[in-house]
Amino acid sequence: MKEAYLYEKLNNKKVGCRLCNHYCTIHPNDLGKCGVRKNKQGTLYSLVYRKLISQNADPIEKKPLFHFLPGTLSMSVATLGCNFRCFFCQNYAISQVESEHDLYGQDVAPEKIVSQALAAECKSISYTYTEPTVFFEYAYDTAQIASQKGLKNVFVTNGYMSKKSLEMIGPYLDAANVDLKSFSEEFYQNKVEAKLKPVLDNIKLMHKMGIWIEVTTLVIPGLNDSSAELGKIAEFLNDVSPNIPWHISAYHPQYKSRIPATGEQKVKTAVNLGKKAGLKYVYGGNIYTSDLETTYCCRCRQPLIKRTAFSVTANHISEGSCPSCGQQADGIWE
Ligand code: SF4
Repeated sequence: MKEAYLYEKLNNKKVGCRLCNHYCTIHPNDLGKCGVRKNKQGTLYSLVYRKLISQNADPIEKKPLFHFLPGTLSMSVATLGCNFRCFFCQNYAISQVESEHDLYGQDVAPEKIVSQALAAECKSISYTYTEPTVFFEYAYDTAQIASQKGLKNVFVTNGYMSKKSLEMIGPYLDAANVDLKSFSEEFYQNKVEAKLKPVLDNIKLMHKMGIWIEVTTLVIPGLNDSSAELGKIAEFLNDVSPNIPWHISAYHPQYKSRIPATGEQKVKTAVNLGKKAGLKYVYGGNIYTSDLETTYCCRCRQPLIKRTAFSVTANHISEGSCPSCGQQADGIWE
């Protein structure tokens, strides 16, 4: 157990967690909404510190990040827990905590994660698979050490962290993939038990802070796949910056969802809406029969990076630019 970094002591031994936009008020002996933070006699603890549930040296393309150190490995780590309740969660087995007695994990120190990342020749550490905000203390301590050792840090996140937690991790956070699930408050409230606006605010704030961001939208038939809604997401991102890569991901039935999988044509339609809105880099993923994962020069349309199933098969970027016309390619390149 580790005392939480961001909380307030309230009256009658209650505590107010300040980590994410749920801002839970937690009574003694109770857990927060995420199920991994507990009030013990007026002190808030993380129950998942040093409880690693998953660790893999993944291609950075798998996060997905396509414009951040392409072709490199990222040591990807997670604990149990999430602050969202998505009935279609693709990682529900480790994200949805039913009881504090289920909080298992391997005891691995932050220093060890960093040394293992270096030994595996990773260029970054990704806090991913579940929601890094809910294992903030573990991620923060690891990110600090990683940064000192020359590794980059990446959050793969639902973007629901509080402004305070984002500002605290910000100096160590180099990149993030933010899941923007919908452009509807109704969707966020009824389908994932959260709110849309904080996610939008955090995308703007991360961009302002200089964190390299890419955004993913899982397109689910009947829930968020109308052209009007996808167009609004694209226009919002374009207003923040046309340089933000947008990943359109096809949904497949998982967890409690019986909605049929997203068709390939819907992904292509969403990609076109993104381009029409002005976004320079729009990708389609989770489908296997079309080439929607290539990066093209935004000026001369020459292919810059080709990918197949999370592997970079060709990278023509030279000193951060297109070799044909010299146009700068947006991203963080080695
Ligand atoms: S991280 Fe979010 S969901 Fe978890 S206790 Fe804190 S405010 Fe609540």
